[in-house]
Amino acid sequence: MRVLVTGGAGYIGSVSAEVLLREGHDVVVLDDLSTGHRAAVPEGASLEVGSYGETTAVDDLFARQAFDAILHCAARSLVGESVRDPARYYRDNVAGGIALLEAARGHGVKRFVFSSTASVYGTPRETPIREDADLRPINPYGETKRTFEGALAWYAEAYGFRSVSLRYFNAAGASEALGEDHRPETHLIPIVLRAAMAGDEVTVFGDDYRTPDGTCIRDYIHVLDLARAHLLALEATAPDDPRTGKPAEPAAALVCNLGSGRGYSVREVLTAAERTIGRLIAQRVGPRRAGDPPVLVASSDRAREVLGWTARQDSLEAMIDSAWAWQRRHPEGYAE
Ligand code: UDP
Repeated sequence: MRVLVTGGAGYIGSVSAEVLLREGHDVVVLDDLSTGHRAAVPEGASLEVGSYGETTAVDDLFARQAFDAILHCAARSLVGESVRDPARYYRDNVAGGIALLEAARGHGVKRFVFSSTASVYGTPRETPIREDADLRPINPYGETKRTFEGALAWYAEAYGFRSVSLRYFNAAGASEALGEDHRPETHLIPIVLRAAMAGDEVTVFGDDYRTPDGTCIRDYIHVLDLARAHLLALEATAPDDPRTGKPAEPAAALVCNLGSGRGYSVREVLTAAERTIGRLIAQRVGPRRAGDPPVLVASSDRAREVLGWTARQDSLEAMIDSAWAWQRRHPEGYAE
């Protein structure tokens, strides 16, 4: 396959591109480098610097190069920022995403895998969360991802788009070459590891939740497992694949959670990180962070049954060990 990976200079996009290349596919990365890093684009992929929402430039890219499929990882993805500045999220995640879809439609590229999020569920009523749970996002980030998933469903029916939306839970860990370098960093595991390296203190956002140790529980998934799921999802969009359209029926938009199905609390993450690095990490308890549901754990039944995917590296240790190894090799991140 020849795949256009938007956001391929970011954390999940770059590791997914790396896995696609390793499996023998051709990859073109489209990234405006606003949050991604040139150095994260894996060797063997070509980089087009630009935004997926720039209609003329994207149209020109499709005219110059033929693609079998699009892996759309690029997006704005900070929950807090989305609450303060929803316009940016609607503009980039929704309007920009539709511009990309329209360019793809104009050039007959109708295979699409989309980076969605567990945030589409909001605060779930039941856990583990199944894909047919109610979608009630509690912030513009989740809302804009839900809106784009909806567009894919209608594009399937009307225009024959075959798509898979992957609802990520908490991506963690690193490959040999590629790791997590967000600025600002908001995610627990890199924050903990950076604090450990710098001798800083970690703030636990609330320890009075109704969970066994009072801290929030999340479903962490190794970024390499996540990347492998993208490959399987792309395969499921093949023109004759019944998972995204049965013969004589309209094409279909498939939705799959990606989580390991196991939850770990913030305290468990800290303890596991202390084991990995071999010393205690300074920590204090602060107030709850707005918008944090107490427990988010995926049911991964559908990904297993439909995509044939399972998390291979589902131990917290494997994720933290690989993240720590990457961080020690890249103390300044990608340092551009
Ligand atoms: N968290 C924390 N301290 C931090 C960063 C995160 O206690 O410095 C908590 C956060 O409140 C959540 C969990 O760690 O309960 C995972 O947060 P993260 O931002 O990594 O992922 P999210 O679940 O928000 O996607």
